[in-house]
Amino acid sequence: MEADNNNQPERKTLDDRNKMNDLERLRHSCAHVMATAILRLWPDAQFAAGPPVENGFYYDVELQHRISPEDFPAIEAEMKKEIKANRPFEKVVVEREQALKDSESGRLGGLSERPGNPSKFKLGNLADIPEGEPITYFKSGDFIDLCAGPHVMRTGNIGAYKLTSVASAYYKGDEKNPQLQRIYGTAFKNKTELEAYFKMVEEAKRRDHRKIGAEMGLYTIDTEFTGPGLPLWLPKGGAILEELEKLAKETEFHAGYVRVKTPHLAKEKMYLTSGHLPLLYKDSMFPPMSLLEEQDRERSEQLTRRKFAIVDEVLKLKGQGASTDSDRVKELERESFEITLQQDALGERYYLKAMNCPHHHRIFAAEPRSYRDLPLRLAEYGTCYRYEQSGELFGLMRVRSLNMNDAHIYCTTEQFAQEFNAVNEMYLKYFKIFGIEKSVMRFSTHSKAGLGKKYVNEPELWIQTENMVRDVLKNSGINYIEVANEAAFYGPKIDVQVWSVIGREFTLATNQVDFAVPRKFGLVYRDKDNTDKTPLCIHRAPLGTHERFIGFLIEHYAGNFPLWLAPEQVRVLTIGEDEPLVSYAKAIVQELRANMVRAEGDYGNDKINGKIQQAEQAKVHTMLVVGPRDMAADAVSVRIHGKGSLGAKPKTEVVAEILTAIRERRA
Ligand SMILES: [Zn+2]
Ligand SMILES: [Zn+2]
Repeated sequence: MEADNNNQPERKTLDDRNKMNDLERLRHSCAHVMATAILRLWPDAQFAAGPPVENGFYYDVELQHRISPEDFPAIEAEMKKEIKANRPFEKVVVEREQALKDSESGRLGGLSERPGNPSKFKLGNLADIPEGEPITYFKSGDFIDLCAGPHVMRTGNIGAYKLTSVASAYYKGDEKNPQLQRIYGTAFKNKTELEAYFKMVEEAKRRDHRKIGAEMGLYTIDTEFTGPGLPLWLPKGGAILEELEKLAKETEFHAGYVRVKTPHLAKEKMYLTSGHLPLLYKDSMFPPMSLLEEQDRERSEQLTRRKFAIVDEVLKLKGQGASTDSDRVKELERESFEITLQQDALGERYYLKAMNCPHHHRIFAAEPRSYRDLPLRLAEYGTCYRYEQSGELFGLMRVRSLNMNDAHIYCTTEQFAQEFNAVNEMYLKYFKIFGIEKSVMRFSTHSKAGLGKKYVNEPELWIQTENMVRDVLKNSGINYIEVANEAAFYGPKIDVQVWSVIGREFTLATNQVDFAVPRKFGLVYRDKDNTDKTPLCIHRAPLGTHERFIGFLIEHYAGNFPLWLAPEQVRVLTIGEDEPLVSYAKAIVQELRANMVRAEGDYGNDKINGKIQQAEQAKVHTMLVVGPRDMAADAVSVRIHGKGSLGAKPKTEVVAEILTAIRERRA
């Protein structure tokens, strides 16, 4: 059994719960039904938490018996009875006193009272319900659970379900607490949707970017020498990466962006100014490097010597019978603590950059700016480093080094709508190129209650900026949803969700509108009226990071990249190894390479069918087979990966066709 990486989510507020969508309600209700079924089989099971999660639900249970997938049919059969009985979910509001009593008797999360077997986890959950918040039970048949809902009306509303896996998890995610069995399942409105889901899961496994990435030789993660989460791009992956950068650079150039380049690290002051340090982002950054200049090093050694002397003196005093709270001992300890602080302050601390924005802000500040310079669109494929927990690392999807398709647009309030709209249009343009047919912009706004805590305390600016963003989204006809209380600290945020061709959802990128940090950096432009004003800043990264986007593309295309993206675009295969046929083939490769096409040749003596098979396996996009007859006609026989032969065509025509398809980035 593998330990579960799904961190226990923080306790949901009633507000969060009300946001649960229909499918989440259905799945959570199914967790109640699963618990009922487990209790029919093992009456002393103790349940902890059973929330809906991405793609399904789970319920954590403590039970002597180790539940394994072999138990699933029996549990599912009991679930079927509960669903067939079509029991209503009845809500009961109780006093805390009553809930305590029912936990003690083992009634909560049970089918009946269970003397000597109190509902200990429900008791712990009860303690987390704040005073003043109503305490509610939900009852379905014999099963009574401490739960705030919401659920479907009746168990019969659960159309189709299936248990999927077992993992282990600590109660409330804390390893000091007992270890529980986490039983996962999923549920849908009907059988058709359930079957479609499992078909997609199967297809996603077949298209797993880690598997295809290794088979195609796109990247490797060398945990021993480079480190976990730090992908090494192999030549074939490097080719894809280059193409994406080329696309971004062209698109951004046409849209009036200018390119900059910034270092991978910066002094602590940078992130103290941006507000990422000391607290907000500290856990996501690699620990700092301390650099001591010569004079600092001498001073540091001096301080260390003094610290040792203090230790000696304290030991001596204690040897003479001094107590730990004698005045002299206390004084020495205080001095030692102060020395530590002094040592910490010596030299300079540098951090690997976790985001490019502060560097770009300093570029904005590097020259005096006037309103005539705006909008200023600074673009960079910046490499950032984020310290993800090792348990969270996942192929290319969760990494510690990220190449980001980043840019920051500095503009006036009047320019905002046009700039933001242009960003959205750039997204749509990319979606078209990559055949992304389903997408949604998730627009997160602030909450009044969070001002000054979760959100920078600028009530008017929040409302003003959110209105601007909303107007653009409305007028652009883009598919968007609005989510309250999930904005970034310094402004509204737009997450871009896309669906791969097999219907799996990915978060591609995030846009942010920032009205606070430019001010922290003192960024100003001289306006028409000769006063200094702070620009707005739009953060955008339409192609996200190379890592995540290529991970997405591998699944989306199942590794069968379109010609312009294919690591090996063309392979010329000879029928036999005789001259002058080989020279004819080599000349074609040369001509293609002279036009920047990634073309290779296979001129060996192997049977042509074997050569074709190898090229197909390597997912080479276009195969040009040449034999004596082709050569005589100045032709080539064209074969497309996965599509088969297109027959013989004049060589010049084929080369021209290849160049056009690449230039136009045809699907
Ligand atoms: Zn519930
Ligand atoms: Zn940024």
